[in-house]
Amino acid sequence: MTETNAFTPGVLIVGGGLVGASLAIALDAAGVAATMVEAAAPHVAAQPSYDERNLALARATVNGLAAIGVWPHAADQATPIRHIRVSRAGEFGSARMEAASEGVDALGWTLPARELGAALLRRLDACTQLTRIAPGKLEGLDAVADGWRARIRTPDGERAVMAALLVGADGTESFVRQTLGIDAARFDYEQTLFVATVTPERAHENRAFERFSDVGPVAMLPLAERRCGLVLTVPAADAEAVAALNDEDFIALAQRRFGWRLGRLSRPGKHRPYAIHRVVAARVTGPRAVLVGNAAQTVHPIGAQGFNLGLRDALTLAELVAGASDPGAASLLADYATRRAPDRDGTLRMSHGLVRLACLAQPALAPLRSLALLAHDRVAPLQHLLARHGMGFRGTPPRAVLERLP
Ligand SMILES: Cc1cc2nc3c(=O)[nH]c(=O)nc-3n(C[C@H](O)[C@H](O)[C@H](O)COP(=O)(O)OP(=O)(O)OC[C@H]3O[C@@H](n4cnc5c(N)ncnc54)[C@H](O)[C@@H]3O)c2cc1C
Repeated sequence: MTETNAFTPGVLIVGGGLVGASLAIALDAAGVAATMVEAAAPHVAAQPSYDERNLALARATVNGLAAIGVWPHAADQATPIRHIRVSRAGEFGSARMEAASEGVDALGWTLPARELGAALLRRLDACTQLTRIAPGKLEGLDAVADGWRARIRTPDGERAVMAALLVGADGTESFVRQTLGIDAARFDYEQTLFVATVTPERAHENRAFERFSDVGPVAMLPLAERRCGLVLTVPAADAEAVAALNDEDFIALAQRRFGWRLGRLSRPGKHRPYAIHRVVAARVTGPRAVLVGNAAQTVHPIGAQGFNLGLRDALTLAELVAGASDPGAASLLADYATRRAPDRDGTLRMSHGLVRLACLAQPALAPLRSLALLAHDRVAPLQHLLARHGMGFRGTPPRAVLERLP
Protein backbone atom coordinates (compact mmCIF):
# COMPACT_ATOMS: atom_id res chain seq x y z
CA MET A 1 0.00 0.00 0.00
CA THR A 2 1.39 3.43 -0.93
CA GLU A 3 0.50 6.30 1.36
CA THR A 4 0.89 9.82 0.05
CA ASN A 5 -0.19 12.49 2.47
CA ALA A 6 -0.63 15.91 0.93
CA PHE A 7 -1.10 18.15 3.95
CA THR A 8 -1.35 21.41 2.03
CA PRO A 9 -4.82 22.69 2.86
CA GLY A 10 -5.96 22.46 -0.73
CA VAL A 11 -9.05 21.65 -2.72
CA LEU A 12 -9.82 18.03 -3.59
CA ILE A 13 -12.14 17.56 -6.57
CA VAL A 14 -13.68 14.10 -6.75
CA GLY A 15 -14.70 13.37 -10.35
CA GLY A 16 -13.08 14.63 -13.53
CA GLY A 17 -16.18 14.53 -15.73
CA LEU A 18 -17.32 17.59 -17.66
CA VAL A 19 -17.94 19.66 -14.52
CA GLY A 20 -15.08 18.43 -12.30
CA ALA A 21 -12.53 18.95 -15.10
CA SER A 22 -13.91 22.45 -15.77
CA LEU A 23 -13.59 23.32 -12.08
CA ALA A 24 -10.03 22.01 -11.95
CA ILE A 25 -9.11 24.18 -14.94
CA ALA A 26 -10.88 27.26 -13.53
CA LEU A 27 -9.03 26.90 -10.21
CA ASP A 28 -5.73 26.43 -11.98
CA ALA A 29 -6.38 29.52 -14.11
CA ALA A 30 -7.00 31.44 -10.87
CA GLY A 31 -3.71 30.20 -9.40
CA VAL A 32 -5.34 27.87 -6.84
CA ALA A 33 -3.59 24.54 -6.21
CA ALA A 34 -5.96 21.57 -6.30
CA THR A 35 -6.02 17.80 -6.66
CA MET A 36 -8.49 16.07 -8.98
CA VAL A 37 -9.21 12.37 -8.66
CA GLU A 38 -11.06 10.59 -11.47
CA ALA A 39 -12.01 6.92 -11.59
CA ALA A 40 -11.47 6.64 -15.38
CA ALA A 41 -8.13 6.80 -17.17
CA PRO A 42 -7.48 10.20 -18.81
CA HIS A 43 -8.59 9.30 -22.35
CA VAL A 44 -11.77 10.36 -24.13
CA ALA A 45 -12.67 6.72 -24.78
CA ALA A 46 -12.38 5.77 -21.07
CA GLN A 47 -14.44 8.63 -19.62
CA PRO A 48 -18.15 7.71 -19.31
CA SER A 49 -19.57 11.16 -20.09
CA TYR A 50 -17.13 12.05 -22.91
CA ASP A 51 -19.35 10.09 -25.29
CA GLU A 52 -21.53 10.52 -28.38
CA ARG A 53 -24.20 12.69 -26.74
CA ASN A 54 -24.52 16.06 -28.42
CA LEU A 55 -24.48 18.89 -25.92
CA ALA A 56 -26.42 22.10 -26.50
CA LEU A 57 -24.20 24.69 -24.84
CA ALA A 58 -25.79 27.93 -23.70
CA ARG A 59 -24.16 31.20 -24.67
CA ALA A 60 -23.07 31.79 -21.06
CA THR A 61 -21.39 28.36 -21.07
CA VAL A 62 -19.34 29.16 -24.14
CA ASN A 63 -18.29 32.48 -22.56
CA GLY A 64 -17.23 30.55 -19.45
CA LEU A 65 -15.33 27.90 -21.44
CA ALA A 66 -13.57 30.68 -23.38
CA ALA A 67 -12.60 32.47 -20.14
CA ILE A 68 -10.84 29.35 -18.80
CA GLY A 69 -9.10 28.57 -22.10
CA VAL A 70 -11.10 25.48 -23.12
CA TRP A 71 -13.13 26.91 -26.00
CA PRO A 72 -10.14 27.49 -28.35
CA HIS A 73 -9.65 23.69 -28.29
CA ALA A 74 -13.34 23.02 -29.13
CA ALA A 75 -14.61 25.93 -31.25
CA ASP A 76 -13.82 24.30 -34.61
CA GLN A 77 -16.10 21.36 -33.79
CA ALA A 78 -19.05 23.46 -32.56
CA THR A 79 -22.12 24.52 -34.53
CA PRO A 80 -23.96 27.77 -33.69
CA ILE A 81 -27.68 27.62 -32.82
CA ARG A 82 -29.35 30.72 -34.27
CA HIS A 83 -33.03 29.76 -34.07
CA ILE A 84 -34.94 27.57 -31.60
CA ARG A 85 -38.42 26.18 -32.28
CA VAL A 86 -40.48 24.55 -29.53
CA SER A 87 -43.82 22.89 -30.34
CA ARG A 88 -46.14 20.12 -29.25
CA ALA A 89 -47.54 17.39 -31.47
CA GLY A 90 -51.24 17.96 -32.21
CA GLU A 91 -51.51 21.41 -30.59
CA PHE A 92 -51.59 24.83 -32.18
CA GLY A 93 -49.06 26.90 -30.18
CA SER A 94 -45.36 27.04 -30.92
CA ALA A 95 -42.55 29.15 -29.53
CA ARG A 96 -39.57 30.63 -31.30
CA MET A 97 -36.33 32.19 -30.18
CA GLU A 98 -34.10 34.06 -32.61
CA ALA A 99 -30.50 35.08 -32.07
CA ALA A 100 -31.07 38.18 -34.23
CA SER A 101 -33.98 39.37 -32.02
CA GLU A 102 -31.70 39.08 -29.00
CA GLY A 103 -28.93 40.98 -30.81
CA VAL A 104 -26.46 38.09 -30.64
CA ASP A 105 -24.75 35.94 -33.28
CA ALA A 106 -25.85 32.66 -31.62
CA LEU A 107 -28.17 31.61 -28.80
CA GLY A 108 -25.85 28.71 -28.07
CA TRP A 109 -23.71 26.06 -29.77
CA THR A 110 -23.95 22.29 -30.29
CA LEU A 111 -20.86 20.26 -29.50
CA PRO A 112 -20.46 16.47 -29.20
CA ALA A 113 -19.52 15.61 -25.57
CA ARG A 114 -16.58 13.62 -26.94
CA GLU A 115 -15.14 16.84 -28.47
CA LEU A 116 -15.70 18.84 -25.29
CA GLY A 117 -14.03 16.02 -23.36
CA ALA A 118 -11.02 16.09 -25.71
CA ALA A 119 -10.78 19.89 -25.32
CA LEU A 120 -10.92 19.61 -21.52
CA LEU A 121 -8.19 16.95 -21.52
CA ARG A 122 -5.96 19.12 -23.73
CA ARG A 123 -6.48 22.12 -21.46
CA LEU A 124 -5.91 19.99 -18.33
CA ASP A 125 -2.50 19.03 -19.73
CA ALA A 126 -1.52 22.71 -19.63
CA CYS A 127 -2.47 23.16 -15.94
CA THR A 128 0.46 24.00 -13.68
CA GLN A 129 -1.03 23.98 -10.16
CA LEU A 130 -3.14 20.84 -10.50
CA THR A 131 -2.35 17.31 -9.31
CA ARG A 132 -4.30 14.69 -11.28
CA ILE A 133 -4.91 11.20 -9.98
CA ALA A 134 -6.46 9.16 -12.80
CA PRO A 135 -7.38 6.42 -12.67
CA GLY A 136 -8.10 6.74 -8.97
CA LYS A 137 -11.31 6.02 -7.10
CA LEU A 138 -12.37 7.69 -3.86
CA GLU A 139 -13.27 4.84 -1.52
CA GLY A 140 -13.43 6.46 1.91
CA LEU A 141 -13.57 9.79 3.71
CA ASP A 142 -12.57 10.58 7.28
CA ALA A 143 -13.33 13.90 8.91
CA VAL A 144 -10.14 15.42 10.41
CA ALA A 145 -9.44 18.78 12.02
CA ASP A 146 -10.03 21.50 9.40
CA GLY A 147 -10.82 19.15 6.55
CA TRP A 148 -11.03 15.66 5.17
CA ARG A 149 -8.72 12.73 4.68
CA ALA A 150 -9.67 10.96 1.45
CA ARG A 151 -8.75 7.36 0.76
CA ILE A 152 -8.16 6.79 -2.94
CA ARG A 153 -7.68 3.45 -4.67
CA THR A 154 -5.20 3.59 -7.59
CA PRO A 155 -3.64 0.78 -9.65
CA ASP A 156 -0.50 1.23 -7.48
CA GLY A 157 -2.30 0.93 -4.15
CA GLU A 158 -4.15 3.23 -1.74
CA ARG A 159 -3.30 6.91 -1.42
CA ALA A 160 -4.46 9.40 1.17
CA VAL A 161 -5.08 13.03 0.28
CA MET A 162 -5.87 15.74 2.81
CA ALA A 163 -8.26 18.49 1.80
CA ALA A 164 -9.46 21.74 3.33
CA LEU A 165 -12.33 21.69 0.82
CA LEU A 166 -13.85 18.53 -0.61
CA VAL A 167 -15.75 18.96 -3.89
CA GLY A 168 -18.15 16.22 -4.97
CA ALA A 169 -18.17 16.37 -8.77
CA ASP A 170 -18.75 12.64 -8.93
CA GLY A 171 -22.01 12.50 -10.83
CA THR A 172 -25.58 11.37 -10.20
CA GLU A 173 -24.80 8.56 -7.73
CA SER A 174 -22.26 10.72 -5.89
CA PHE A 175 -20.24 8.81 -3.30
CA VAL A 176 -19.35 12.16 -1.69
CA ARG A 177 -23.03 13.12 -1.33
CA GLN A 178 -23.88 9.77 0.23
CA THR A 179 -20.91 9.83 2.60
CA LEU A 180 -21.83 13.33 3.75
CA GLY A 181 -25.33 12.01 4.50
CA ILE A 182 -27.01 14.50 2.17
CA ASP A 183 -30.41 13.22 1.04
CA ALA A 184 -31.40 13.38 -2.61
CA ALA A 185 -34.95 13.51 -3.98
CA ARG A 186 -35.42 11.17 -6.92
CA PHE A 187 -37.98 11.21 -9.68
CA ASP A 188 -38.10 8.56 -12.36
CA TYR A 189 -39.52 9.97 -15.60
CA GLU A 190 -40.06 6.39 -16.78
CA GLN A 191 -38.54 7.46 -20.06
CA THR A 192 -35.48 6.32 -21.97
CA LEU A 193 -33.62 8.65 -24.24
CA PHE A 194 -31.93 7.61 -27.49
CA VAL A 195 -29.20 9.73 -29.00
CA ALA A 196 -28.18 9.34 -32.66
CA THR A 197 -26.75 11.42 -35.47
CA VAL A 198 -28.90 11.72 -38.61
CA THR A 199 -28.69 13.47 -41.97
CA PRO A 200 -31.82 15.42 -42.95
CA GLU A 201 -32.77 16.08 -46.55
CA ARG A 202 -33.05 19.86 -45.95
CA ALA A 203 -30.30 22.02 -44.46
CA HIS A 204 -30.82 22.67 -40.75
CA GLU A 205 -29.89 26.35 -41.19
CA ASN A 206 -28.67 26.44 -37.59
CA ARG A 207 -32.14 25.70 -36.23
CA ALA A 208 -32.67 23.59 -33.09
CA PHE A 209 -36.07 21.95 -32.61
CA GLU A 210 -37.79 20.66 -29.54
CA ARG A 211 -41.07 18.81 -30.01
CA PHE A 212 -43.16 17.45 -27.15
CA SER A 213 -45.76 14.71 -27.18
CA ASP A 214 -47.56 12.37 -24.78
CA VAL A 215 -44.85 9.73 -25.23
CA GLY A 216 -41.96 12.12 -24.54
CA PRO A 217 -39.97 14.88 -26.18
CA VAL A 218 -37.82 14.75 -29.29
CA ALA A 219 -35.10 17.26 -30.08
CA MET A 220 -33.00 17.92 -33.17
CA LEU A 221 -29.76 19.86 -32.79
CA PRO A 222 -27.75 21.32 -35.69
CA LEU A 223 -24.33 19.75 -36.24
CA ALA A 224 -21.45 20.25 -38.67
CA GLU A 225 -21.65 19.05 -42.32
CA ARG A 226 -25.46 19.24 -42.50
CA ARG A 227 -25.83 16.53 -39.89
CA CYS A 228 -28.18 16.78 -36.90
CA GLY A 229 -28.13 15.34 -33.41
CA LEU A 230 -31.37 13.53 -32.68
CA VAL A 231 -32.54 13.10 -29.09
CA LEU A 232 -35.55 10.80 -28.99
CA THR A 233 -37.40 9.94 -25.79
CA VAL A 234 -39.54 6.84 -25.51
CA PRO A 235 -41.50 5.34 -22.59
CA ALA A 236 -39.11 3.16 -20.56
CA ALA A 237 -41.29 0.12 -21.26
CA ASP A 238 -40.48 0.46 -25.00
CA ALA A 239 -36.74 0.98 -24.55
CA GLU A 240 -35.65 -2.58 -25.19
CA ALA A 241 -37.69 -2.83 -28.39
CA VAL A 242 -36.37 0.52 -29.68
CA ALA A 243 -32.78 -0.45 -28.84
CA ALA A 244 -33.24 -3.58 -30.98
CA LEU A 245 -34.55 -1.68 -34.06
CA ASN A 246 -32.44 -1.77 -37.21
CA ASP A 247 -31.43 1.56 -38.83
CA GLU A 248 -34.39 1.59 -41.21
CA ASP A 249 -36.99 1.06 -38.48
CA PHE A 250 -35.28 3.45 -36.07
CA ILE A 251 -35.25 6.24 -38.66
CA ALA A 252 -38.92 5.56 -39.46
CA LEU A 253 -39.74 5.99 -35.75
CA ALA A 254 -37.67 9.19 -35.60
CA GLN A 255 -39.46 10.53 -38.68
CA ARG A 256 -42.89 9.82 -37.19
CA ARG A 257 -41.98 11.50 -33.94
CA PHE A 258 -40.10 14.51 -35.36
CA GLY A 259 -42.17 15.09 -38.48
CA TRP A 260 -41.03 16.48 -41.84
CA ARG A 261 -39.73 19.98 -41.02
CA LEU A 262 -36.29 18.98 -42.30
CA GLY A 263 -37.57 16.59 -45.00
CA ARG A 264 -36.58 12.94 -45.05
CA LEU A 265 -34.15 11.81 -42.35
CA SER A 266 -31.48 9.28 -43.27
CA ARG A 267 -28.12 7.70 -42.37
CA PRO A 268 -28.64 7.25 -38.62
CA GLY A 269 -25.50 6.61 -36.58
CA LYS A 270 -25.65 4.13 -33.71
CA HIS A 271 -28.58 4.80 -31.37
CA ARG A 272 -27.63 4.65 -27.71
CA PRO A 273 -30.06 4.49 -24.75
CA TYR A 274 -29.88 6.51 -21.52
CA ALA A 275 -32.34 6.01 -18.62
CA ILE A 276 -33.61 9.34 -17.33
CA HIS A 277 -33.89 10.29 -13.66
CA ARG A 278 -34.04 13.52 -11.80
CA VAL A 279 -31.90 13.49 -8.66
CA VAL A 280 -31.76 16.65 -6.55
CA ALA A 281 -29.59 16.95 -3.44
CA ALA A 282 -31.39 18.43 -0.41
CA ARG A 283 -28.47 20.82 0.06
CA VAL A 284 -25.31 21.60 -1.90
CA THR A 285 -22.86 22.07 0.98
CA GLY A 286 -21.68 20.13 4.04
CA PRO A 287 -18.85 20.68 6.50
CA ARG A 288 -15.86 21.73 4.33
CA ALA A 289 -17.61 20.16 1.38
CA VAL A 290 -19.61 21.18 -1.65
CA LEU A 291 -21.49 19.36 -4.42
CA VAL A 292 -21.36 20.55 -8.03
CA GLY A 293 -22.80 19.39 -11.36
CA ASN A 294 -24.79 16.15 -11.50
CA ALA A 295 -23.82 15.30 -7.91
CA ALA A 296 -25.82 18.35 -6.81
CA GLN A 297 -28.60 18.05 -9.38
CA THR A 298 -29.26 15.72 -12.29
CA VAL A 299 -31.98 17.00 -14.61
CA HIS A 300 -33.88 15.67 -17.63
CA PRO A 301 -31.51 16.04 -20.60
CA ILE A 302 -34.20 17.39 -22.92
CA GLY A 303 -33.98 20.88 -21.41
CA ALA A 304 -30.21 20.79 -22.19
CA GLN A 305 -29.41 22.25 -18.78
CA GLY A 306 -27.23 19.70 -16.94
CA PHE A 307 -23.75 20.74 -17.96
CA ASN A 308 -24.76 24.37 -18.49
CA LEU A 309 -25.92 24.57 -14.87
CA GLY A 310 -22.97 22.51 -13.60
CA LEU A 311 -20.44 24.79 -15.27
CA ARG A 312 -22.02 27.77 -13.52
CA ASP A 313 -21.64 25.83 -10.23
CA ALA A 314 -17.96 25.26 -11.01
CA LEU A 315 -17.18 28.82 -12.12
CA THR A 316 -18.98 30.36 -9.13
CA LEU A 317 -17.05 28.11 -6.74
CA ALA A 318 -13.74 28.92 -8.45
CA GLU A 319 -14.51 32.64 -8.22
CA LEU A 320 -15.17 32.41 -4.46
CA VAL A 321 -12.18 30.17 -3.71
CA ALA A 322 -9.72 32.33 -5.69
CA GLY A 323 -8.16 34.69 -3.20
CA ALA A 324 -9.78 33.07 -0.13
CA SER A 325 -7.32 32.15 2.63
CA ASP A 326 -9.38 29.08 3.60
CA PRO A 327 -11.27 27.45 0.69
CA GLY A 328 -13.41 25.40 3.07
CA ALA A 329 -14.49 28.23 5.38
CA ALA A 330 -18.12 28.01 6.46
CA SER A 331 -18.76 31.61 5.33
CA LEU A 332 -17.45 30.84 1.83
CA LEU A 333 -19.69 27.79 1.55
CA ALA A 334 -22.69 29.78 2.77
CA ASP A 335 -21.95 32.44 0.11
CA TYR A 336 -21.72 29.71 -2.49
CA ALA A 337 -25.11 28.22 -1.57
CA THR A 338 -26.74 31.67 -1.58
CA ARG A 339 -25.20 32.65 -4.92
CA ARG A 340 -26.27 29.41 -6.61
CA ALA A 341 -29.81 29.19 -5.20
CA PRO A 342 -31.74 31.39 -7.70
CA ASP A 343 -30.08 29.83 -10.76
CA ARG A 344 -30.34 26.27 -9.41
CA ASP A 345 -33.95 26.58 -8.19
CA GLY A 346 -35.10 28.42 -11.31
CA THR A 347 -33.44 25.97 -13.71
CA LEU A 348 -34.72 22.94 -11.79
CA ARG A 349 -38.26 24.34 -11.80
CA MET A 350 -38.11 25.22 -15.47
CA SER A 351 -36.64 21.89 -16.57
CA HIS A 352 -39.02 19.70 -14.53
CA GLY A 353 -42.04 21.89 -15.31
CA LEU A 354 -41.26 21.83 -19.02
CA VAL A 355 -41.12 18.05 -19.18
CA ARG A 356 -44.15 17.51 -16.94
CA LEU A 357 -46.32 20.09 -18.66
CA ALA A 358 -45.26 19.38 -22.19
CA CYS A 359 -44.90 15.60 -22.20
CA LEU A 360 -47.24 13.94 -19.81
CA ALA A 361 -50.61 12.96 -21.17
CA GLN A 362 -52.95 15.41 -19.46
CA PRO A 363 -55.58 16.36 -22.04
CA ALA A 364 -57.08 19.02 -19.73
CA LEU A 365 -53.80 20.91 -19.97
CA ALA A 366 -53.70 21.01 -23.76
CA PRO A 367 -55.31 24.46 -24.21
CA LEU A 368 -53.17 25.90 -21.45
CA ARG A 369 -50.04 24.50 -23.03
CA SER A 370 -50.90 25.92 -26.41
CA LEU A 371 -51.63 29.30 -24.83
CA ALA A 372 -48.33 29.22 -22.97
CA LEU A 373 -46.44 28.51 -26.16
CA LEU A 374 -48.35 31.21 -28.04
CA ALA A 375 -47.88 33.70 -25.20
CA HIS A 376 -44.19 33.05 -25.27
CA ASP A 377 -44.12 33.60 -29.01
CA ARG A 378 -46.11 36.85 -28.95
CA VAL A 379 -45.19 38.60 -25.70
CA ALA A 380 -41.81 40.20 -26.38
CA PRO A 381 -40.66 40.83 -22.76
CA LEU A 382 -41.51 37.24 -21.78
CA GLN A 383 -39.71 35.92 -24.82
CA HIS A 384 -36.73 38.13 -24.04
CA LEU A 385 -36.57 36.94 -20.42
CA LEU A 386 -36.81 33.28 -21.39
CA ALA A 387 -34.16 33.80 -24.05
CA ARG A 388 -31.85 35.30 -21.40
CA HIS A 389 -32.49 32.33 -19.11
CA GLY A 390 -32.05 29.91 -22.00
CA MET A 391 -28.70 31.52 -22.82
CA GLY A 392 -27.66 30.83 -19.22
CA PHE A 393 -27.88 34.31 -17.67
CA ARG A 394 -29.91 33.83 -14.51
CA GLY A 395 -29.49 34.90 -10.86
CA THR A 396 -25.97 36.19 -10.10
CA PRO A 397 -23.88 34.38 -12.70
CA PRO A 398 -20.14 33.84 -12.29
CA ARG A 399 -18.16 36.76 -13.79
CA ALA A 400 -16.54 34.45 -16.35
CA VAL A 401 -19.81 33.92 -18.24
CA LEU A 402 -20.90 37.54 -18.41
CA GLU A 403 -21.01 39.78 -21.44
CA ARG A 404 -22.79 42.97 -22.37
CA LEU A 405 -26.00 42.05 -24.17
CA PRO A 406 -28.42 44.47 -25.81
C1 LIG B 1 -28.12 11.97 -23.48
C2 LIG B 1 -27.76 13.18 -22.71
C3 LIG B 1 -27.78 14.43 -23.33
C4 LIG B 1 -27.42 15.56 -22.62
N1 LIG B 1 -27.47 16.79 -23.24
C5 LIG B 1 -27.10 17.89 -22.56
C6 LIG B 1 -27.11 19.16 -23.20
O1 LIG B 1 -27.48 19.29 -24.36
N2 LIG B 1 -26.68 20.25 -22.49
C7 LIG B 1 -26.28 20.15 -21.19
O2 LIG B 1 -25.91 21.19 -20.59
N3 LIG B 1 -26.28 18.97 -20.55
C8 LIG B 1 -26.66 17.84 -21.20
N4 LIG B 1 -26.64 16.62 -20.57
C9 LIG B 1 -26.22 16.55 -19.16
C10 LIG B 1 -24.69 16.50 -19.00
O3 LIG B 1 -24.14 15.48 -19.78
C11 LIG B 1 -24.37 16.29 -17.53
O4 LIG B 1 -25.02 17.27 -16.78
C12 LIG B 1 -22.87 16.38 -17.27
O5 LIG B 1 -22.20 15.34 -17.93
C13 LIG B 1 -22.60 16.30 -15.78
O6 LIG B 1 -21.22 16.35 -15.57
P1 LIG B 1 -20.60 15.96 -14.17
O7 LIG B 1 -19.14 16.20 -14.33
O8 LIG B 1 -21.33 16.65 -13.08
O9 LIG B 1 -20.93 14.41 -13.97
P2 LIG B 1 -20.41 13.18 -14.82
O10 LIG B 1 -20.25 13.57 -16.22
O11 LIG B 1 -21.29 12.05 -14.49
O12 LIG B 1 -18.95 12.90 -14.23
C14 LIG B 1 -18.75 12.34 -12.96
C15 LIG B 1 -17.34 11.76 -12.94
O13 LIG B 1 -17.03 11.32 -11.63
C16 LIG B 1 -16.30 10.14 -11.71
N5 LIG B 1 -16.47 9.44 -10.42
C17 LIG B 1 -17.62 8.93 -9.91
N6 LIG B 1 -17.41 8.38 -8.70
C18 LIG B 1 -16.08 8.53 -8.45
C19 LIG B 1 -15.23 8.16 -7.35
N7 LIG B 1 -15.71 7.51 -6.26
N8 LIG B 1 -13.91 8.45 -7.42
C20 LIG B 1 -13.41 9.11 -8.52
N9 LIG B 1 -14.17 9.48 -9.57
C21 LIG B 1 -15.47 9.19 -9.54
C22 LIG B 1 -16.87 9.39 -12.90
O14 LIG B 1 -15.95 8.47 -13.45
C23 LIG B 1 -17.19 10.54 -13.86
O15 LIG B 1 -16.16 10.79 -14.78
C24 LIG B 1 -27.02 15.46 -21.26
C25 LIG B 1 -27.00 14.21 -20.63
C26 LIG B 1 -27.38 13.09 -21.34
C27 LIG B 1 -27.37 11.74 -20.64
